[in-house]
Amino acid sequence: AGPGDPDLLTLKALDRLQQADVVIYDRLVAPEIVDYARRDAERIFAGKARGLHTLTQNEINYRMLQAAKAGKRVVRLKGGDPFVFGRGGEEKAFLEAHGCNVELVPGITAAAGCAAAAGIPLTERGVAQAVTFVTGQGANGEPDLDWASLARLKQTLCIYMGVSTANSVALRLIEGGLAPTTPTAIIENGTRNQQRVLRGPLAQVGAIVEREAVTGPAIIMIGEVASATNEQRLTGTARAIAV
Ligand code: SAH
Repeated sequence: AGPGDPDLLTLKALDRLQQADVVIYDRLVAPEIVDYARRDAERIFAGKARGLHTLTQNEINYRMLQAAKAGKRVVRLKGGDPFVFGRGGEEKAFLEAHGCNVELVPGITAAAGCAAAAGIPLTERGVAQAVTFVTGQGANGEPDLDWASLARLKQTLCIYMGVSTANSVALRLIEGGLAPTTPTAIIENGTRNQQRVLRGPLAQVGAIVEREAVTGPAIIMIGEVASATNEQRLTGTARAIAV
């Protein structure tokens, strides 16, 4: 379903959605996108909004399987791209193991959508030669990662699901060798009308999350590309080239 803006749905996704007899969708999917399904299609909300009843992964798997075995066309609609922190691999493997045909439709992942919407290039010559998608969640809250290798210079880190652990992740990265002043941008509700881009040094990221009461889905981008001065510098370079 892409990162939020319904216009970021691919033509293929729209086509499959309109063919679906059953649509199982996540909380991060914009309601306008679910509305693209046929009026007679069965819509199943899979979660995971806090406080609301949500389906377990096992229930989701069996709901899909049941409908497919009944001869229905099932669309499993997920935010962003199904293969980026989306459990698409697990669901595909489960269904195939039970004899279903599965087609995977890629989507615009949150990092790509948010980068474009916030004007933050994920890579840039001489500034960021790599980009890494990282989860901010581990089995017991904070993720167990190789902080020193993530702190390697000249790359952009995009932290998914990292709002609740922002402070400890920032500390680990600083311990791992990243400068406390490393530019950081928190993009909340990226590509949606309520989008916010909150910038500051890495050491402040936890404080910013708290002060600004970040509650929507948010991605944390860490690296030189996230600084406002980088944007100004790029604009300057573009002007120089144009002259
Ligand atoms: N499969 C999805 C990611 C699911 S994990 C994808 O490819 O984008 C959920 C995380 O994605 C959220 O915690 C947040 O970090 C990020 N995310 C999803 N939509 C977002 C949005 N509109 N703005 C900012 N971050 C978003």
